[in-house]
Amino acid sequence: MAYRINEVDCIACGACQPVCPVECISEVADGKRKIDESTCIDCGACAGVCPVECIAPVE
Ligand code: SF4
Ligand code: SF4
Repeated sequence: MAYRINEVDCIACGACQPVCPVECISEVADGKRKIDESTCIDCGACAGVCPVECIAPVE
């Protein structure tokens, strides 16, 4: 399992990136963030700090 960012809703605030314990969140175009799903450990920390709730577990 992993978490995924909905890039349409992401407002590029950057809040999720520093809370990831395995540093698998990186900046992509327009300052939006992307999760490397191959290294995500499914902790949910990023989802807890996202102000627009655009991070959710991959179904
Ligand atoms: Fe990082 Fe945890 Fe979010 Fe995965 S769920 S991207 S490990 S903070
Ligand atoms: Fe985008 Fe949410 Fe991360 Fe902010 S916390 S950069 S809105 S995914």
